Amino acid sequence: MPRKTKIVATISSLKCSPGFIGRLYKAGMNVIRLNTAHMTRDDALKMIKNIRQVSDKIGILIDTKGPEIRTCDNDKPLAVKYGDTIRIKGDPDKRSKGKVVCVSYEHFVKDIPIGSSIMIDDGYIALAVMDKDDKYLICEVENDGVINARKSINIPSVHVRLPALSDKDKRFIEFAADNDLDFIAHSFVRNEDDVIAVQKILDRKKSSIKIIAKIENSQGVENLCEILDHAYGVMIARGDLAVEIPTEQIPLIQKKIISTCIEKRKPVIVATQILHSMIESPRPTRAEVSDVANACLDSADALMLSGETASGKYPEVAVRTMAKVAKEVEDKKSSFINVPYTLENRITAYLAKAAVKASLRLNTKAIVADSLTGESIRALAAYRGDNPIYAQIYDKRVMRQLSLSFGVFADYIPRDITSQDSLNKSICLLLDDKQFKEDDLIIILAGNFGIKQGASYIEISTAGNFKKKCT
Ligand code: PEP
Repeated sequence: MPRKTKIVATISSLKCSPGFIGRLYKAGMNVIRLNTAHMTRDDALKMIKNIRQVSDKIGILIDTKGPEIRTCDNDKPLAVKYGDTIRIKGDPDKRSKGKVVCVSYEHFVKDIPIGSSIMIDDGYIALAVMDKDDKYLICEVENDGVINARKSINIPSVHVRLPALSDKDKRFIEFAADNDLDFIAHSFVRNEDDVIAVQKILDRKKSSIKIIAKIENSQGVENLCEILDHAYGVMIARGDLAVEIPTEQIPLIQKKIISTCIEKRKPVIVATQILHSMIESPRPTRAEVSDVANACLDSADALMLSGETASGKYPEVAVRTMAKVAKEVEDKKSSFINVPYTLENRITAYLAKAAVKASLRLNTKAIVADSLTGESIRALAAYRGDNPIYAQIYDKRVMRQLSLSFGVFADYIPRDITSQDSLNKSICLLLDDKQFKEDDLIIILAGNFGIKQGASYIEISTAGNFKKKCT
C-alpha cells in the first residue's frame, strides 16, 4: 500500500536545483511550497521551471505574505536584555536604528493599546507596551535576545486593520495565475472577506487555482466555518498561531480544525516545527515523531516541512522520516471516518461512502475513479478508507491539486470520444502498472452519463476480470 498522508516541502531560491527537488520527490514529497515573503518573481520563475522539470505531478503552492507585520531592515541587529526599554515606530520606509525598531505597518502605534504584548520572531522575544506617544510605543523587553531585520511581529488578541492583500501579494497572485500554479496559501486569513479578496483576483484572471486559507490567529479559528465556505482547504499555520493564541490551546484547536475540514471535504495541512530539530540534526526528537504520528492519527491530509527542507542540513532525511512515521501509523491503524453525507451532489456522496465501506468489508485492494473537477475524488478521500484511491483525471491541474488529498494517487488521462473509453484505457494501464494479483478485488466508481454528470455506479470485481476487458 502506498503512503496516504501527503507531504508538503518548503524550498528556497538558494537551494532549488532539479537534482535537489528530484531527491525530495523520491524521498516522498508531494507538494512544494514557495514562500513569497522571502523571494522575487524571478526567483519563483526559476523554481517553478525546475519543479516542472522533475515532474508534472508535483503540486505547487505559493504562500502570500498576507496582512502581516515585520520588523524593517536595520543598520545592525539590536541585542536586548530583560528590563531594557526600546521604542517601536510604524514606518515601513525607515530602517531600524539604535534602540528604535521600525515595523512595516504605518498605523502600528495607533492600533496597539498600552498593556499589549508584542511577540517578535515567532515569540522569540517578548515586549510589554508600557506607554506611547504620537510616534512611538515605549516597550519593556521581557527576555534577552537579538532583534533582527524582517522578523514576524504578533500582537496576541489585538485586531489590526491591515488590508487582506499587500501590493506584493496581488502581484504574486496574478503571477500564480499566469504561471498555472496549483494553490495559493493566503496568510493570516481572518474571515471570508480575506478569502474573497484573493478569489476576486483569480476570477478576473479566469484562473482555477485553489485557495488554501492559513489559519494563524484567533479570528481565523473563530471564523473557520465561513472561511471554509470560500476556501478550497486550510493550513494550520502553527508558527504564528501558537504566538497569537496560548500554546497550550493549540493541540485541541488543531484536532478541531482537522475534523471540521474532513467533514466539509476540504484538504487540511498541519504546518510548522513538525521536525524542527532536523534543521540541525539527522534524527528527530521523540516529541517530533509523536507530533507527526498524532497528526496522522487525526487523519490530516498533509503535513508540511518549512525550515527543515528550505534551509536545513538534512532535507531529504526529514522528508523520508516524515514519510516513514506516517506509513507506520497508517499500516497499524484503520482510519475510516463515518463523516455525514453532504446535501450537495447526493448521488456522488452516497456512492463514494458505499465504495469506501465496501472496500473495508470486502478487503479490496484499490478504488479507481475518474473525475473532471476532483470533487468525487475528495468525496471518497473524506472517509479515510484503507484503499489507495487511483484517480483518473481529465485535467492536469486538477491532477496536481489532488496531490494534497489523503490517499489519492492521481493520473492524467486524455479524453477520448467518450469518457467510458478513456476510463477503460486508463484502468488497463493502471492494472499493468500496479501489478495487482488476478484475484485482487478492485472497486470502480464512475459515471455512465458523461463526465459532467458525475458518478452513477460502482462496479466491484477481480483484477483478472477487469483485465479480460483490456484485450
Ligand atoms: C506558520 O506561521 O506556521 C506558517 C506556516 O507561516 P509562515 O511560514 O509564512 O510564517
